Amino acid sequence: MHLDGSTADGGNGGDGRGGVDVSAAWGRVKRRLRAELGEDVFASWFARLELEEVSGGVARLTVPTRFLKSWIESHYIDRVLTTFRAEAENIGRIEVGVRGASAPARPAPSAGKPSPTSGPLTRLHATATQAALQGPGPMVETEIAVPRGDAGVDLNGAPLDARLTFASFVVGRSNALAHAAAERIARNDGEGALYNPLYVHAGVGLGKTHLLHAAGHAAREAGRRVIYLTADRFMYGFVNALKTQSALAFKEKLRAIDLLILDDVQFIQGKSIQTEFGHTLNALIDSGRQVVVASDRPPTELETLDERVRSRLAGGLVVEIGNLDEGLRTSILSARLAAVRQSHPNFEVSPQVSAYVARAITANGRDLEGAVNRLLAHATLTGAPVTVETAESAIRDLVKNREPKRVKIEDIQKLVASRYNVSRSDILSERRTAAVVKPRQIAMYLSKVLTLRSLPEIGRRFGGRDHTTVLHAVRKIEKQIGEDAVLGDEVELLKRMLQD
Ligand code: ADP
Ligand code: MG
Repeated sequence: MHLDGSTADGGNGGDGRGGVDVSAAWGRVKRRLRAELGEDVFASWFARLELEEVSGGVARLTVPTRFLKSWIESHYIDRVLTTFRAEAENIGRIEVGVRGASAPARPAPSAGKPSPTSGPLTRLHATATQAALQGPGPMVETEIAVPRGDAGVDLNGAPLDARLTFASFVVGRSNALAHAAAERIARNDGEGALYNPLYVHAGVGLGKTHLLHAAGHAAREAGRRVIYLTADRFMYGFVNALKTQSALAFKEKLRAIDLLILDDVQFIQGKSIQTEFGHTLNALIDSGRQVVVASDRPPTELETLDERVRSRLAGGLVVEIGNLDEGLRTSILSARLAAVRQSHPNFEVSPQVSAYVARAITANGRDLEGAVNRLLAHATLTGAPVTVETAESAIRDLVKNREPKRVKIEDIQKLVASRYNVSRSDILSERRTAAVVKPRQIAMYLSKVLTLRSLPEIGRRFGGRDHTTVLHAVRKIEKQIGEDAVLGDEVELLKRMLQD
């Protein structure tokens, strides 16, 4: 976090301290919001709100989605400002941004339409049902007209991205099952719901959202009524419906669809919302509507949801998308390159460069997309052909981020020493008191598992000890970790601290 509390506080708070500790103030702001708004509201809208920086009297906050941003801006911005000011008086304004926003902004067809609302309760012409299903005024998401259904009422799901179709989805070993299930469901006509719900889970960037959008497009093309919602949307729809007393109408509306697609369900939280989520799910599934959900974890690990909801989610077909193997990465990459070439015919990437990128970027599809954008930027800016060497430097940070960090033995010794209140020279010394022996052994163990150093080398770095001493320490700690969960956690924590 970058904090700049000292430059611009002018006459404000001229106590010579150059401003308050903004970070601590922000912690208090969050606690106050939680206390004042209640746990449910806080968990839904503020839990993921973070302070990025304060500069020139402007506090810049971030959230993970555009949806949260517009919701906070339209409903809570004054509240946040007032609360923040009470803790740090030099804050004059609040800005909310989207973390890691790199996707190009989509045109927003509904943005220009007059929508003079300041909140869900003041929406003018909407019926209760519409109010329950439509976004707040300032939102700039496309509203989707349902192809058939009652009297042209818009159901306000999130828009489907036109690029994310089955045609552009590359099938490989790790996603074949998820793909087959999604396709089967999307193209299903009249067989009733198959595996219901279909639950797809995978780590970030492995194609969940792509697959969900693809299923949405295909089902819509087949004339079926589809709503795609993110968890945020679902929660918004619900909170809003509760406020306008039309929860029933909202549920009725959801039941009037053929396919409900819900992305990122791991974000659903809040007691009343998850209860209603459970009801909605039951109602849809029991009436034979197809439900497809995606999450970053299996149903059993959705800690914010209660047991019944979890088991309902697990009760259909649960499929995991595994890591992209090199073959799949290569295909995704060439598909992407081909797509980019349509608008940039001069953009040439040799097979060698493709192979390099597909090998270097192992983590996920999002980084592959990022890599293509870097290469394109490089090619357009320099006009020079992309070589393996230029590719290497263009994508260096994408690659580097993924490599496990190299840990130094010296850093291990320092961290472990400070954690156990001894000095690094104690660890290197001959002393054999328990207070020193234990941290020493832990440090040796960590040196063995976090570095590529040999046992004799580690011994030398620990005050010239024999390699058998190191081996003994490693075995001993390994054994203790297995028996003592507290120690296990402790060592795990040390590992993480050393690695990031
Ligand atoms: P997730 O929702 O699992 O985090 P996304 O669906 O957003 O991941 O995928 C991240 C990026 O990788 C997107 O640009 C997506 O199009 C691409 N991608 C992932 N898997 C595939 C695939 N099998 N075929 C084509 N593109 C893919
Ligand atoms: Mg996603």
